Amino acid sequence: MNSLTTKQKKNLLLTLHKLESELKEQLQINKQATETVQLDQTAVGRVSRIDAMQQQSMAVSTRGKALLKLKKVQASLEAIESDNYGFCRQCDEAISFGRLNAQPQASLCLVCQDKADQHS
Ligand SMILES: [Zn+2]
Repeated sequence: MNSLTTKQKKNLLLTLHKLESELKEQLQINKQATETVQLDQTAVGRVSRIDAMQQQSMAVSTRGKALLKLKKVQASLEAIESDNYGFCRQCDEAISFGRLNAQPQASLCLVCQDKADQHS
């Protein structure tokens, strides 16, 4: 049983689609950033090369986070389609609309998220 109303689900679906395209756009820009740095490495001095490398490693870490979020967003979109959305994948409890509204890609309820955070 799902605790979400059709309207709530529709809103969350819209938010998820928006998130998906935003993340894809961000990854596109980010990809260009990491590639540009690599090309510039031979052309710049030592100090700016270190700078560039730091910027690049930041871009790589941002990219990893964005990719992970995109994966969660896409998993949520799939869950909506198969009508499994809004349930904790750990304990099967319904995730509250308030939590989903803030984080539509959430796949764990607050209790399980807390436990997961403590382990990581
Ligand atoms: Zn749970």
